[in-house]
Amino acid sequence: MIKQAVIVAGGLGSRFGNRTKEMPKGFIEIDGVAMVERSVQKLIAAGIEEIIIGTGHCSEYYDELAKKYHIIKTARNDNYANTSSMGTLAVCAPLIKGDFILLESDLIYDAVGLKVLQNDERANVILASGKSNSHDEVYLAANEDGVLNEVSKDKSIIPNPAGELVGITKISKACLDKMMAYYNSDKNLIKIDYENVLKAVSLAGEPVYVHKVEYYAWTEIDDESMLERATKEIWPRIQENESLLAIRREVLLNPGPSTTTDSVKYAQVVADICPRELEFGNLMEEVAEGLTEVCADPKDYISVMFGCSGTGADEAMVSSCVPPDGKLLVVDNGSYGARLAKIASVYNIDMDVFKSSTYEPIDIAALEKQMQSKKYTTFAIVYHETTTGLLNDLATICPMAKKYGMTTICDIVSAYGGMPIDLGKLGIDFATSTSNKHIGGMAGVGFVVCKRDELLKQKDWPMRNYYLNLYDQYKYFLETKQTRFTPPVQTFYALRQAIIETKVETVEKRFERFTECWEILVKALDEIGLKMLVDRKYQSHFITAILIPETPKYKFNELHDYARSFGFTIYPGKLGNIDTFRIANMGDIKPEEMTHFTCVLRDYMHSIGVC
Ligand SMILES: *Cc1c(COP(=O)(O)O)cnc(C)c1O
Repeated sequence: MIKQAVIVAGGLGSRFGNRTKEMPKGFIEIDGVAMVERSVQKLIAAGIEEIIIGTGHCSEYYDELAKKYHIIKTARNDNYANTSSMGTLAVCAPLIKGDFILLESDLIYDAVGLKVLQNDERANVILASGKSNSHDEVYLAANEDGVLNEVSKDKSIIPNPAGELVGITKISKACLDKMMAYYNSDKNLIKIDYENVLKAVSLAGEPVYVHKVEYYAWTEIDDESMLERATKEIWPRIQENESLLAIRREVLLNPGPSTTTDSVKYAQVVADICPRELEFGNLMEEVAEGLTEVCADPKDYISVMFGCSGTGADEAMVSSCVPPDGKLLVVDNGSYGARLAKIASVYNIDMDVFKSSTYEPIDIAALEKQMQSKKYTTFAIVYHETTTGLLNDLATICPMAKKYGMTTICDIVSAYGGMPIDLGKLGIDFATSTSNKHIGGMAGVGFVVCKRDELLKQKDWPMRNYYLNLYDQYKYFLETKQTRFTPPVQTFYALRQAIIETKVETVEKRFERFTECWEILVKALDEIGLKMLVDRKYQSHFITAILIPETPKYKFNELHDYARSFGFTIYPGKLGNIDTFRIANMGDIKPEEMTHFTCVLRDYMHSIGVC
């Protein structure tokens, strides 16, 4: 799995004249987006975790870009005026940890080229195209095995090229080391291009294969005429190709699974692999760490993962974390709190339930009074009650549980990844979530983020459960990098991509986006004249429970079907005798989509005479 990309962007772009005097070439825009920024977006969508940009001329532009995409690192080639692309790659080399994709900065390209390289099982692969007629071709020659043996702009040197150089290459760490040794071996090579160094190492026994895609849509942009050709000819082709792969959009306004990006959907399409292979173990290990980092410090916490839904994770936590002779206190102020209590009762766990209103804040004094009895070893609560959208005040409640010596286990399923959470600060020992809510992956992985010290206490406890045993799953994975039973393999690949996209957006920005969507919804509800179940100051911004209008003409199914015909899926909600419908802000929802939904909702409400 390739994790890094390197963009060499040191050059002066002198063939553009004035336009690139005070701006690097990569910042020339095509269709309103800088070439290099679009390239960064494609690399992220292809599962690249870190992008190193080798800069030089006007490097501050790239430093700014790195602030927007904090997975970018820049490395400045101070000698850019006297060196070439290899000189810039050499400056990046110390940051390169493994195999990587090398790109030029002045490219527009069909993202499928990245997939072609990722799918090629050979270590070093240079992407080539058929005839581009760009008038600036770099021709590649290869032997009968496809191994690169010549690079030239001069067609007379390569009369039958194996393809034209695109400027996107997959390079192994071993190959990079050889490239560096070659480059450093002779001072006269100071101005050499990376492709000529690739040729040299390829001829010297580190094979670099030419992979030609005959009708590949791409171009580099070196001067005004190439820019015009790029805008008029190539960009429309790239857009058309990529649009053919776009998946029909359904916006899920139900409380999970949530709307996913196409890149998360496509991340599942990978070569088959036995999950007991080390490669997959490494992937799961990285995913576990990525999941932990979203809500806790990996020094103190570890994520234990199961193939299951969020309730599976809840069951693993409740059935594993209460000591053999322990007693549990569960807060029930909605369906999910009730579910925690139900799970405990199925396992015959000694328990008291603290009941509280489903739409009003918990009475803290009453809860503390119950805790004070000191009868309990373990305290269970839901962070965000998805039933109503009520956010419980864990910052007050959890430290209280600590004060009375309890281990705190928490269902944070529908808060995790949607808002900043720090389990250590809150004093939460175990917390559950799932791959398909705010984190934005596919359904199938449930996990418990565990405080390591607390988990280790379970070592000698008799097992109350089997498949869902937390300590056993932890220990087996620690020793083998495998789950005890078959994990949902493809879901893990999607989850890896979802974690990358969460890191790129950041949880803070995600919360802002959900809040923006929620504000759009709340404003529209006011205008339509619909009421919310929970006072807005206690709401999470992730779920809005809306009281149904009083007219008998309202039928949930009709509203559902009408919304669905516009690509929006909504969800019913019933609490005792209070009838609501619910709108979730989760996953890849955009404010303009929420605005569109509010129009659909208004139309329906108008049709039944509500407004
Ligand atoms: C979604 C959710 C769950 C888990 O539901 P599953 O259908 O089992 O994935 C658990 N708790 C809360 C608060 C939830 O919102």
